[in-house]
Amino acid sequence: RTVYVNGEYLPENEAKVSVFDRAFLMADGVYEVTSVLGGKLIDFDGHLARLERSLNELDMQKPEAFDDLLEIHRELVRVNEITDGLVYLQVTRGGAADRDFAFPDPDEVKPTLVLFTQAKPGLADSPAAKKGMKVISIEDIRWGRRDIKTTQLLYPSMGKMMAKKAGCDDAWMIEDGKVTEGTSNNAYIVKGNKIITRELSTDILHGITRAAVLRFAREAQMEVEERSFTIDEAKEADEAFITSASTFVMPVVEIDGATLGEGVPGKVATRLREIYLDESLKAAI
Ligand code: PMP
Repeated sequence: RTVYVNGEYLPENEAKVSVFDRAFLMADGVYEVTSVLGGKLIDFDGHLARLERSLNELDMQKPEAFDDLLEIHRELVRVNEITDGLVYLQVTRGGAADRDFAFPDPDEVKPTLVLFTQAKPGLADSPAAKKGMKVISIEDIRWGRRDIKTTQLLYPSMGKMMAKKAGCDDAWMIEDGKVTEGTSNNAYIVKGNKIITRELSTDILHGITRAAVLRFAREAQMEVEERSFTIDEAKEADEAFITSASTFVMPVVEIDGATLGEGVPGKVATRLREIYLDESLKAAI
């Protein structure tokens, strides 16, 4: 596989990043994941806009190749022959200097830019979408700026392992009694025909898939309410689902052992998945 590092396309085993890179030492990096379907990028503009916002919020410089990011994505998809899969992008504050908590002088240290692809044949017709996911709930003990997409992913990884240990697929995180989001996705419940998902704030990542799905839902005259909900309300909901760039819309059929509805993917989640895949494929670039 060919990867991109700071201006160069290289075989993955020849790509190098400094051991002093602040993403390695301090998780001082931000990232994006863009799906590829039929060789085209899904929601690319949204991911690029969020990347720019994450960089701004952390006073991190834009990498020199920022304006070439679409071309770099396309080139990696081409050379790696990705039909269905994803492109992972990471920007770090760099770090050729000694380890230091203070940010390095931007005149001396350039950001690191890394991109690579992962092939995922049949990504859009995943069997999990037909079966639905099981989630557990865990305490949300992450930092307070979850709207910035940083590479500090240790707690979400631990949450995923707690879910696996419990025989489930993912964990929904809870703060002050309310669900924030999944380990790597936004969380939704459905009551009647109403789609309920937590409002945007610094408590959650502003999902690019969330924005698109809510727009399509409203365009299809479906009712949307942006507010937080408790795990008890979720357990009694008619349906639940998650969204993310790599899973699109994925139904949830069990929460903390409680079965939702008939224990199969719900009508609303199934319809939203179809609409999202249709519309975003049409708009893919
Ligand atoms: N929340 C968290 C914590 C995530 O890690 C992700 C996926 N990166 C999302 C939500 C979903 O965001 P998106 O739809 O942009 O992939």
